[in-house]
Amino acid sequence: SIDVQSDCTFQSLLINESVQERLRAHQFLRPSPVQAGAIPIGLLGRDLLVQAKSGTGKTLVFSILAVHSLDLKSSFVQKVIITPTREIATQIKETVRKLAPPKARISVCIGGSEHKLIQMELKNNRPHIIIGTPGRMAQLVKMKAINMSHVDFFVLDEADKLMDQIFRDNINFVINALPPVRQVAVFSATYPRNLDLLLATFLRDASHVRFNVENVQLVGIKQFVVQNCSPVLEKLVHILKRTRYVQALVFTDKIMKVESIATHLKNEGLDVTFVSSLMSQKERQFAVDQLRFKRVKILVSSDLTARGIDADNVNLVVNVEAAANEDTYFHRIGRAARFGAQGAAVTLLEDDTALKGFTAMAYRGKVTVKRVWDVEMLPVD
Ligand code: ADP
Ligand code: MG
Repeated sequence: SIDVQSDCTFQSLLINESVQERLRAHQFLRPSPVQAGAIPIGLLGRDLLVQAKSGTGKTLVFSILAVHSLDLKSSFVQKVIITPTREIATQIKETVRKLAPPKARISVCIGGSEHKLIQMELKNNRPHIIIGTPGRMAQLVKMKAINMSHVDFFVLDEADKLMDQIFRDNINFVINALPPVRQVAVFSATYPRNLDLLLATFLRDASHVRFNVENVQLVGIKQFVVQNCSPVLEKLVHILKRTRYVQALVFTDKIMKVESIATHLKNEGLDVTFVSSLMSQKERQFAVDQLRFKRVKILVSSDLTARGIDADNVNLVVNVEAAANEDTYFHRIGRAARFGAQGAAVTLLEDDTALKGFTAMAYRGKVTVKRVWDVEMLPVD
């Protein structure tokens, strides 16, 4: 059920031979539709707005474009990729590292570590490619620790999130430091309607590459809502013990509850850890890596990991109470079926009022959700 273009190869996308070789070496054998659609346009140097569902391979699009025409003899920063969370930044670095020439220098500039250390790393490493989060990037540009004057390719991953009020000033600051001739590419699974105006301030005659935007229901994810789940934690334990899954993500938007939910599950004998922005950067990365590298079965999380995190064995997402809005719901459940895999998403709601809100949200997003009256009715697989 993997959604690749069988008649299309990376070679036919005009990707150079050495990048093709590294793609093959890492088992990227055929491009996904969004890769086939966006990479050739990107290689022409056009600004790009890309919209495609979660798990369809957007990271590879900008990673390939970022490593394609690096000047390794130069010690200027040439490619900058910005993403909302530190964990996604680290994950993107892994992909870029796989595809970049071995001599390419790559730095990650994120919050949570001493900025003196990052400055030292920038001085010693002299990166060609920087991957960072908005606040840290703006700070380093302000301090002139990052010179943006030779950046020819600039990416916003999870672009809609980066246009949120909390990030917008920092993003604008970094964009204003770009040289006049540069390519900008923005990526997301969702674009709220008012976003086009904001993006238009720095995208120039951008090509739009959009896939499956009408039908935001994720292929491969069965969605369920269980209502009247009081107490919710009891139902949660029930699901995590009785259904079959490889790994699970449990979401709550109450950041203060993340740890106590995890503790409750642990006391029930489940293999579980947790992550939220209340933790130190080291602890956050450790927890996410536990999930990604298959060392733990269940991760309880705030919306910190609702976007972008790629843990390919996760095939169950459980929402403890509804997500705050449609886009967050959509990004969360997208964690459960990466690159054509199959998964399930279950939303546990305390009462009828919550159900009304959730159903309205789900329908607005044209999401088909199967109502289940009790956890007992959930299919076992
Ligand atoms: P998105 O950003 O669109 O949500 P990702 O870029 O995180 O999705 O990709 C999801 C998964 O698909 C990753 O594990 C990635 O390695 C895998 N993937 C992407 N492109 C390909 C490809 N062409 N062939 C095989 N696997 C791929
Ligand atoms: Mg992504």
